[in-house]
Amino acid sequence: MNTDSTLKLPRRIAGLHELAYNLWWSWHQEARELFKSLDRPLWKITGHNPVKLLHQIPPYRLVAAAEDTAFVKHYDAVMDKFKTEIVAPTWFCNNYPNLAANLVAYFSMEFAFHNSLPLYAGGLGVLAGDYCKEASDLGIPMVAVGFMYPQGYFSQRISDDGWQQELYHQLNFNEAPITPILTIQRQPLKVKVELDSRTVTLAVWLVNIGRVKVYLLDTNLEENSPTDRQLTARLYSGDRELRLQQEIVLGVGGVRMLRALGIGPTIWHANEGHTVFMMLERCRELVEQGMDFPQAAEQVRNTSIFTTHTPVPAGNDAFQHSLMEKYFRNYWNSLGLNRETFLKIGTQDSDNASFNMTVLGLRMAQQRNGVSQLHGAVCRNMWHCIWPETAENDVPIAAVTNGIHVPSWIAPQIARLYAKYLDENWFARHDDPTLWESIDLIPDEEIWNAHLWLKNKLISSVQARARQRWSENGGSPASVLAMGALLDAEVLTIGYSRRFTDYKRASLILRDLNRLKKLLKDNLRPVQIIFAGKAHPNDHHGKELIQEVCNLARSPEFGGRIAFVEDYDMHLARYLVPGVDVWLNTPRPTQEASGTSGMKAAVNGVPHLSVLDGWWYEAYNGTNGWAIHNDANLNPAEQDAADANELYHILEDKVVPLYYDHDRNGVPHGWIQMVKQTIRSNIALFSARRMLKEYTEQLYLPAAQADTSLPQKSASAEEHPRRKKMTAPANS
Ligand SMILES: *Cc1c(COP(=O)(O)O)cnc(C)c1O
Repeated sequence: MNTDSTLKLPRRIAGLHELAYNLWWSWHQEARELFKSLDRPLWKITGHNPVKLLHQIPPYRLVAAAEDTAFVKHYDAVMDKFKTEIVAPTWFCNNYPNLAANLVAYFSMEFAFHNSLPLYAGGLGVLAGDYCKEASDLGIPMVAVGFMYPQGYFSQRISDDGWQQELYHQLNFNEAPITPILTIQRQPLKVKVELDSRTVTLAVWLVNIGRVKVYLLDTNLEENSPTDRQLTARLYSGDRELRLQQEIVLGVGGVRMLRALGIGPTIWHANEGHTVFMMLERCRELVEQGMDFPQAAEQVRNTSIFTTHTPVPAGNDAFQHSLMEKYFRNYWNSLGLNRETFLKIGTQDSDNASFNMTVLGLRMAQQRNGVSQLHGAVCRNMWHCIWPETAENDVPIAAVTNGIHVPSWIAPQIARLYAKYLDENWFARHDDPTLWESIDLIPDEEIWNAHLWLKNKLISSVQARARQRWSENGGSPASVLAMGALLDAEVLTIGYSRRFTDYKRASLILRDLNRLKKLLKDNLRPVQIIFAGKAHPNDHHGKELIQEVCNLARSPEFGGRIAFVEDYDMHLARYLVPGVDVWLNTPRPTQEASGTSGMKAAVNGVPHLSVLDGWWYEAYNGTNGWAIHNDANLNPAEQDAADANELYHILEDKVVPLYYDHDRNGVPHGWIQMVKQTIRSNIALFSARRMLKEYTEQLYLPAAQADTSLPQKSASAEEHPRRKKMTAPANS
């Protein structure tokens, strides 16, 4: 492990070191520009990674920059903003001064902060990354805990026959924005966790996200066996036993790591079931200090928050009892439990052979939530079995709808318009709905031109990727065309990018190929579709869906109007989402817990066309996009047919005519009304700022105030004054 950074910077601009190692730069345009201005080509080659840039840039360039008055002026402004923002009074300390001594520990299996640190697979990671950034902006005292995966998730290539290939790259730790945690003796801090009959040692890495510190566990140490060194190599292996080991390392090891660092959280937040073993480890600590298990569990419960994200039963992690026994047979004694009493905590009557992490989380946290209002209702229905005595509507699972970190997802061209016409300081109050009431102050032409700029940028980047593959001799001519070489910036463009998996129904729009062809190949008003997304390496059907799309994209019949862009990740999302005209989502109803990519589209004024599910169920108001209404009484095949039919109908009769109806200067005023409604109704509500405020007020405050000496409150639904509670639709 390299324990010292070798960066050598001229003294005048030495602060670039600290800035490069704090991803605060990534959501501040002026800081991104600062690094970029050091060396534009290198900025691009390094994948916008300042640590790598500073390592690779020739020293004379740095010396020149330190002597360049324009650069130094820009540098001083950015450093000044960085230093002030990190210490400035915040929403949290202004509103909750007496709670400043509390600290939230946020555990997650994945985090998406920036592409230079690929520790995520998809939506869950993006949410966790956005969560940390917003916690920093609001000044919520928080630390986060996760894994440092040297290989992360795979990058995707599509073969000439349309089949997904997975490539794993080894991350160079010296060129990532991470620093090792050392002891006072400047030795790596080490934490130990027992697995089966052996002990695994963990090292710890730090990532700075503004004010928030993220600690990442790593088992790649010499003292571990070769297999254990690989334990944290990759995210989501298909192997159940490896997955269990990872979850033990994260939950149990994560708590021990915070103790070793001398960090004492008072509020513990488990993001999804993968992290819930942390609650058992905290019980173990309390039992060791002399409590019995019921007392310990009560204290842990009062101070724990559990967020569930998965309405699909198979998505909820569960482990066979025999496997649990192998890894916990010594541990349950230290909790004061035996085999039966231990296994019971994570087991439900309907599946009495497996230990379910969601069940464990629901039972061990007093504050529980789903991630949209509809998903909350779906959870109350799904987990009614845990509270059989309670009426379904009173099942104690609340809902906090997801949101996105607006500064991270807004395109600079759009942000400039908000600053120019709404409020120069719009970032500071972007979760205030009244700010967006004046969206009509932006002239239609300007917003349209900003969008066209982004669309052109998207198409030229997609074509640059295709050209790159062609020149590397990386594919047949047909597959290069299928990568988007024939896209046309004049054509109405639909974007569909997300994980390829059954319930997301990527192929819904492909259901009636003749009807689709008519839409795409219309002479006067054509349509094109850009697809992107990965399938989980073990999801054969997901890969077949990708193949289906790629085959159509290659077929001359569709005239190059379907493109599949490889390797969907945060970087691609940042220009794909704001660059298309419509963002499409067609999940099977009630299976999309929230979805967040449509929110990213909305902040950039890209209207959403979606099945009424997840966040869209509460966002759609009849004027801010389009909704596919679904009939809960249909079986899946009938549902697909009906939903596809409605989708074509919306495209043919509403989307296409509105888009192509423009004035003499080419400005589609009716369309821009839709764009403005999208912005007006969505940004404030679906911002991570609104989300974090709700977590704080509805879940963290009760946990902080829980008086652990009182007897446990009976489980009852929390009342949330801001929102009306929803009831699950009939088919959930
Ligand atoms: C936002 C995002 C997601 C989540 O998208 P959904 O709408 O939840 O499907 C997944 N992957 C990446 C790279 C993203 O940026």
